[in-house]
Amino acid sequence: MSKGKSNAYFNGVPDSIKKEIICISWMVEGSLPFRYLGVLIKTTRLSAQDCKPIIDKVVDRIRVLGARKLSYAGRLVLVKAVLKTLHTYWASMFILPTRACRPRDEGGLGLKNELQWIKAAVGKLVWWIATKSDHLWVRWINHIYIKDKAWQTYTPPQNTSWYWRRVCRIRDLFIEAYQQNQWMTQQGKEYTIEKGYDFNRDKSPKVNWYNMVWNKWNIPKHSFISWVYHHRNMNTMEKLYRLEISEVDTCCLCKNSIETIDHLFFQCQYSQKVVNCVGNRIGISLPHHDLLTRRTRSHGSKIEKGIIDATINACIYHLWRHRNQSRIDLTLIHPKKVAHQLLEELQKRVAAMVTTSIREKDRKFVQHFMEI
Ligand SMILES: [Zn+2]
Repeated sequence: MSKGKSNAYFNGVPDSIKKEIICISWMVEGSLPFRYLGVLIKTTRLSAQDCKPIIDKVVDRIRVLGARKLSYAGRLVLVKAVLKTLHTYWASMFILPTRACRPRDEGGLGLKNELQWIKAAVGKLVWWIATKSDHLWVRWINHIYIKDKAWQTYTPPQNTSWYWRRVCRIRDLFIEAYQQNQWMTQQGKEYTIEKGYDFNRDKSPKVNWYNMVWNKWNIPKHSFISWVYHHRNMNTMEKLYRLEISEVDTCCLCKNSIETIDHLFFQCQYSQKVVNCVGNRIGISLPHHDLLTRRTRSHGSKIEKGIIDATINACIYHLWRHRNQSRIDLTLIHPKKVAHQLLEELQKRVAAMVTTSIREKDRKFVQHFMEI
């Protein structure tokens, strides 16, 4: 501990004891509010202004990493890998306003439900108290607030601090974990924010397209568009027409039918030609009318399935990309050329992903895929 950089803070301590402590420790008495590791420490609820440093840090980080130039998939990685760390650091200390998301296998993007994550982060303090963890803060809380009462049934006084009442309210979220005698009270079972988050979040049914969309052979930007496609959340001409954003609802690719998602990926003549070209090149029939259930009927090894799924995702991505391009400049590339671009891109991905330890049968499949 650096004495020159440390201050002592007192609450409800008689002056004589205060002087004695200062005399022994050689520390100067500090006053609230103050900043600790960039975070404002105060007795009352944080205001929007108090949260400004985290917003500034997030914005700076985005600027430095050039997020504007990133694809949606790139932005997703940025949010998960970098910004989340900052948020978790703050969230473990304070309750911040935020928004929600679901895990990937439940149809989400794998981002956390921010509000639940923050509660789980504060849940760590609840767990410290429950397990009588050896922290100065726990000793202080026990001495000032809980005294000899049971933590599970303790009720905070009405005139106590906002933050402490909030901690007690979050304890109530984990009350079921107490009753079931799970990790909350079992010694040796470490609480993690991830566990606390999973315990309290609203769970959704698993989606059957999870493995296909988030398959490791996919190019990330393909996964993202495939995810949007599986949620049937694409701004097709039919949707734009319905919302009165566009005056026409005709398919940008074939100019022949109403552009719905089913038409664009299952029925459109142009899309069928692209999918057939790709299928012919790799020697596998890709049923364009049945992309959603393709995976459940696929045979072959894990690698073979993975590469075929990546091909289907690439078809979805490139059809959507060319449809968008065609909407802007009214030009359309020949289906064979689209198939060629798509496979060339995938071959680079497969070459980067394949390892030397794959089985002979898979090696033959990969070799064939790279030579088509
Ligand atoms: Zn069409």
